Amino acid sequence: MSQLVIQIDDKSYLNATNKTPKQVIKNLQITLNNNEFVCLVGPSGCGKTTLLNILANLDTQFSGSIELQPKHIPPKVGYVFQNPRLLPWRTVRENIQLAADARPETLDFLLEIMGLAAEKESYPEHLSLGMSRRVSIIRAFATDPDLLLMDEPFVSLDPPTSRLVRQLLIDLWTKRAHKVLFVTHDLREAITLADRLIFLSTNPMSVISEVAVTIPRNERSQEMKIEQFRQQLFIDYPQIAELL
Ligand code: ADP
Repeated sequence: MSQLVIQIDDKSYLNATNKTPKQVIKNLQITLNNNEFVCLVGPSGCGKTTLLNILANLDTQFSGSIELQPKHIPPKVGYVFQNPRLLPWRTVRENIQLAADARPETLDFLLEIMGLAAEKESYPEHLSLGMSRRVSIIRAFATDPDLLLMDEPFVSLDPPTSRLVRQLLIDLWTKRAHKVLFVTHDLREAITLADRLIFLSTNPMSVISEVAVTIPRNERSQEMKIEQFRQQLFIDYPQIAELL
């Protein structure tokens, strides 16, 4: 059992013209529990991608710490970007294996759950956007990360496809649980997926509220339940209305 403890005291960018620093994140504290699925909800431009890039070690220019505890070691991270970023000259299988040296049975298991077993030797140009998104999710899971980062991975999918991919993601996460940090600006999507919602402020970004989603997972396909929960959130936490 491990927790991921995120503490970012300061993240600033230098203004390109006058070189003055602009603080994007200030005193942000988030703790992720074992196998927990957490959705980050905040306005566009508040610093969510900046946070994910720091967690993925793509950006080291910040003050603070990110540690798996109790061991106090950096986490192994999988990252699902908005754009699937598949190599067009590689097959589905090769795209996944380039990122993770997964055993053939692991690869087959992941492809099977995500409904892509028949596409194993296909090239990305033959896949729909929804399929490509599923390949990028498998690629991230195949690395067996301590932490899976997902940056609005279902943007621009049509509603039936995003429902399907969300359900497949949860099926996969249920079987191979990891800590997931999922960025979305879609509150219904967040309620459908998350164990816990974290609402973020802008200028600079910090945590406004944390809310556990209490709807049982086997009732999350009922849109009525999601909508009731969403309406209640606005009553209990009126400050979140301006974030969305
Ligand atoms: P979000 O993902 O929540 O939309 P971002 O993390 O992309 O927000 O951006 C947060 C803020 O930091 C924005 O004001 C953005 O313009 C600024 N920003 C992001 N990347 C850079 C950069 N490389 N240099 C300067 N400013 C940046």
